[in-house]
Amino acid sequence: MKLPIRKYGDPVLRKKGAHVTEVTPEIRQLIADMFETMEAHHGVGLAAQQVGHALQLTVIDIRPIEDRPSTLHLDGKPTDPNAFMPLVLLNPVVRPIGAPEDGSEGCLSFPKLYGHIERPESVDVTAANEKGEPLSFRCGGLLARCIQHEADHLHGILFIDRMNRETKEELKPDLDDLQAATKAALKKAKK
Ligand code: ZN
Repeated sequence: MKLPIRKYGDPVLRKKGAHVTEVTPEIRQLIADMFETMEAHHGVGLAAQQVGHALQLTVIDIRPIEDRPSTLHLDGKPTDPNAFMPLVLLNPVVRPIGAPEDGSEGCLSFPKLYGHIERPESVDVTAANEKGEPLSFRCGGLLARCIQHEADHLHGILFIDRMNRETKEELKPDLDDLQAATKAALKKAKK
């Protein structure tokens, strides 16, 4: 089932996610719904907070973006990142290892807003997969950027928090409008 995406201004986006300790049927359903929702919006990553659940759970599939390369190392061996998709990460721990690199980012919770953000080029990731099994890998490029963006969501951190002052200043009118529209919609829904 496609789920509504929570937009900037919705307090759930600022909540730190609880650890997922067991892959229950409800979690499995949520994962399937998150993939359906992400694909419907042509996204490459979606965090549980973005569909209203403060959990350490994110789904990723970078295959729709073909012009921004990724690297992947599994057990120290270079591996095809596309063959590793789609990816479910539960309770991910992300360790930066590369030098900061500038890149453009968007977010399904901020429709049509993009900004350049500096993030480490590569990361080491440990997490559990959709079966609850441990997973660890090293990745770079778009995949590393995407995982860092999603892992931030799981801690209530948004990409605007990582933007430099000039970029955020430029986007401010749009951000204020979006936040006001989200708050008004939430207020209306409560009545
Ligand atoms: Zn996002």
